[in-house]
Amino acid sequence: MSVTRREFLRVSTGAGTATALGGLLGLGANLAPARARAQELRIRDTTTVPSICPFCSVGCGTLVHVKDGEIVNIEGDPRSPHNQGTLCPKGAAIYQLHYNPNRPTRVLHRAPGATEWEEWDLERAMDRVAELFKQTRDETFIETLEDGKRAMCTTSIFALGGATLDNEFNHICQKLMRGMGVVPIENQARI
Ligand code: SF4
Repeated sequence: MSVTRREFLRVSTGAGTATALGGLLGLGANLAPARARAQELRIRDTTTVPSICPFCSVGCGTLVHVKDGEIVNIEGDPRSPHNQGTLCPKGAAIYQLHYNPNRPTRVLHRAPGATEWEEWDLERAMDRVAELFKQTRDETFIETLEDGKRAMCTTSIFALGGATLDNEFNHICQKLMRGMGVVPIENQARI
């Protein structure tokens, strides 16, 4: 359906832009070409790198558009049989993993009973984690069960990973934790 100049002025002068767009849609205007054009401009002169959304085990295919070494766009890969070009809201926000200024980038520690967070450097935090890990393992390690069976484990430490950890990290994490006798281990990959 075509929109006359008079109709366009009527819907766009009486309200804000969002309302005007809503009015145009109500008149049957097709905004798909404009959207396609905007998308085309966004990814012009970029290199496309196929990848996979890390957030859940569906493993939707993505296309990452890179320009001058910077990611400028991430969208669903239409070739993927899982998602056929679509992404759920989490997947559609993958770009934010790289550029959201609200991402925590510092180690914060809140002591037991404290109400405020304290900023720690990474070395100090890693030393503290190692110290507590060893202490807990030493105190709770079970070599032999009551019936005499060898257990060689502790159930007092739990390893929890996150969806955005890659296969390599999870592989090493499994090896380390199992070697230390940690039984409950969880990560997105479930290797
Ligand atoms: S886009 Fe959504 S459904 Fe697909 S892998 Fe990512 S989180 Fe899972």
